[in-house]
Amino acid sequence: MAARREATSPWLLHFDTGSCNGCDIEVWALLTPRYDIERFGMLNKGNPKHADVLLVTGAVTRKSAERLKRLYDQMPEPKLVIACGDCASTGAPYVGCYNVLGGVDQVIPVDVYIPGCAARPEVLIDGVMVALEKWKVKKEVKA
Ligand code: SF4
Repeated sequence: MAARREATSPWLLHFDTGSCNGCDIEVWALLTPRYDIERFGMLNKGNPKHADVLLVTGAVTRKSAERLKRLYDQMPEPKLVIACGDCASTGAPYVGCYNVLGGVDQVIPVDVYIPGCAARPEVLIDGVMVALEKWKVKKEVKA
């Protein structure tokens, strides 16, 4: 994994903390030939220990909060968190529900907030590009 840390293409981990699946569908659209996020060298990974960027969809429920924190803690530094959509960014429209804590930043630090309900794939790509620049800066600071 040491060589992996030198790479310029971040690997992504997607986690749904309680979405309606609207944002999840848009995230998965990024992997289709139409949007093809892999052209930027980004790969979707299922293992937090291999991931550089955590893409979170949905408001954080009380049940998912601990899992979200555990995934984040397993990711190696430098790491980034992207809140995809209004729910992940603020908890809206579920703020105040008995089982909802709020946005992702109620549990872990967030680097990039992507608005929208659902967040459109074009906006997601913009957000991921912003995250990529932040990730490179974090890597330089760590080096
Ligand atoms: S922002 Fe909208 S589409 Fe995305 S998870 Fe929330 S309610 Fe669903």
